Amino acid sequence: MRRISIFGATGSIGQNTLDLIRRNPDDYDVVALTGAQNIPQLIKDAKELRANVAVTSDQTRLAELRDGLAGSGIDVAAGDAALIDAAARPADWIMSAIVGAAGLRPGLEALKHGTVLALANKESLVTAGPLLMGEAKRLGATVLPVDSEHSAVFQALIGEDIKSVERIIITASGGALRDHPLTALDSVTVDEASNHPNWDMGQRITIDSASMFNKAMELIETKEFFGVKPEEIETIIHPESLIHALVGFRDGALMAHVGPPDMRHAIGFALNWPDRKDLPVQRLDLAQIGQLNFRAPDLARYPALAIAQKVMEAGGLTGAVFNAAKERALDGFLAGACSFTDMARIVSRVVDVMLSKEGLQNATITLDSVREADAMARALTGEEIAKQE
Ligand code: NDP
Ligand code: MG
Repeated sequence: MRRISIFGATGSIGQNTLDLIRRNPDDYDVVALTGAQNIPQLIKDAKELRANVAVTSDQTRLAELRDGLAGSGIDVAAGDAALIDAAARPADWIMSAIVGAAGLRPGLEALKHGTVLALANKESLVTAGPLLMGEAKRLGATVLPVDSEHSAVFQALIGEDIKSVERIIITASGGALRDHPLTALDSVTVDEASNHPNWDMGQRITIDSASMFNKAMELIETKEFFGVKPEEIETIIHPESLIHALVGFRDGALMAHVGPPDMRHAIGFALNWPDRKDLPVQRLDLAQIGQLNFRAPDLARYPALAIAQKVMEAGGLTGAVFNAAKERALDGFLAGACSFTDMARIVSRVVDVMLSKEGLQNATITLDSVREADAMARALTGEEIAKQE
């Protein structure tokens, strides 16, 4: 039996992971399940899978969690420190699927104790890639990518030498607004931005797909995970979302990873690694699909891509600033305090202002320095949002 823990179990990635676990429950011993606000789901899953501990990040929801699990023998806990404690419980495989910068600390803790960290939380790499990957190397821990593009690159690289790689191309669907008139983007509503053409995901990442902030994050994630240079990473719009990434080698070969837009493939690959096992995903009928389309992304529609380029070139704590500004700007959009297009304008401004201060690029990335840069960027983003009203 493999001991597994799922951080962010109540979310979209967490639920897809549980779907795979449920199909072979005798293979797994569930150690920790964590959530935040969706306590009924956490209670239901913890009971069904007989988890050792259930944790909510929200202290105010502890009583509800405790009541729901009373008499079950399952430990309950709440708060950020409890998440770290849960990550310290020995496990063989740990899914990092909390959304946002909050995923970094439990992931780092898990590296010290878990053999394999399946990383969906891309914010960990964007904010503190050198810290997370450096710790994994130092501790001899394995990090496996769960983001579909990065899983695709990882799979295309099996048996290859990273030194033979000339470029990495990650694909983008273009999101909910790819055909929306450019001049009307400013008045897009939260509902319009929350409707992804191909993938069924959490709301925040779906809106980030419409603005391509998600792709911007993934460019940085590619740099940090695979250790390639910014100029070796490209994005292409591929509306069908069937090719997830391509790796270009020095001899001109391109290795493409093709599969249905179903996160259970990338999650299952990480779960079964280094083996491959049956997964409940659709088998593609290429004759029926007929054709695959590609086009270059328009930077006027997707300014987030240009910001990512700047962030990758600057390095240091710029990623932490970028991520925090993006998270805060998205909060602003969701709350109706700024428009869809304001998000990129504000994030770009915050990155520029923070870069003009000394030390951001060359700072050492530690939990403290990341936290400080994150707080400063959020405060500045809040000020910029206030100017929009
Ligand atoms: P969801 O919003 O669906 O789920 C997020 C999870 O994190 C939930 O369990 C939520 O709890 C929990 N959570 C929210 N805030 C906090 C917090 N402050 N502290 C601790 N836990 C918290 O997100 P997704 O599943 O879509 O995404 C998870 C991660 O995976 C993100 O980093 C995303 O970028 C990445 N990813 C997602 C993909 C997808 O298909 N969804 C694809 C590739 C990457 P609750 O729901 O109980 O409030
Ligand atoms: Mg992705």
